[in-house]
Amino acid sequence: MAVSEQGLTFSPEIEARLEKAARLCSEQGTTLTPLRREVLGLVLSSDQPIGAYALLDHLRRTRAGAAPPTVYRALDFLRERGFVHKVERLNAFVGCPSAADHVGHDHGHAVQFLICTRCGRVTETEDEAIIAAVAQAAERHGFRQMRATVEIEGLCRACAG
Ligand SMILES: [Zn+2]
Ligand SMILES: [Zn+2]
Repeated sequence: MAVSEQGLTFSPEIEARLEKAARLCSEQGTTLTPLRREVLGLVLSSDQPIGAYALLDHLRRTRAGAAPPTVYRALDFLRERGFVHKVERLNAFVGCPSAADHVGHDHGHAVQFLICTRCGRVTETEDEAIIAAVAQAAERHGFRQMRATVEIEGLCRACAG
């Protein structure tokens, strides 16, 4: 990422994803404002989950007045739209690789995160069998499930090998 007069700019691949996100937002009657765009770009550029304060540090390179609520509001928007997920265990955020397929799912889709405790990488999966099993377990307890994110810690293939 680089700093220009327009704000933060990202690699061509990330810029392409941001363009797509901006299009999806306008199709839904919302706007990917420059701030939201920068926050999403920072999350997508990070190869590990990134926390709100790390995001804030980057944002302050172009927005001296940025404060925690600035970042949290942008993150809330991006989560509601399904562009990013929060990994609760790490209190940090990751970009959703299938964001375009889940547009408008306000509470996000049911995912599992494979969290590598050695290198910190997080891989998102969406396993139908796990989703069904969690839903059945909740139902047996008369529990009305709203979100079903499963976080699994261990070693990624590179670290385990
Ligand atoms: Zn996702
Ligand atoms: Zn690893």
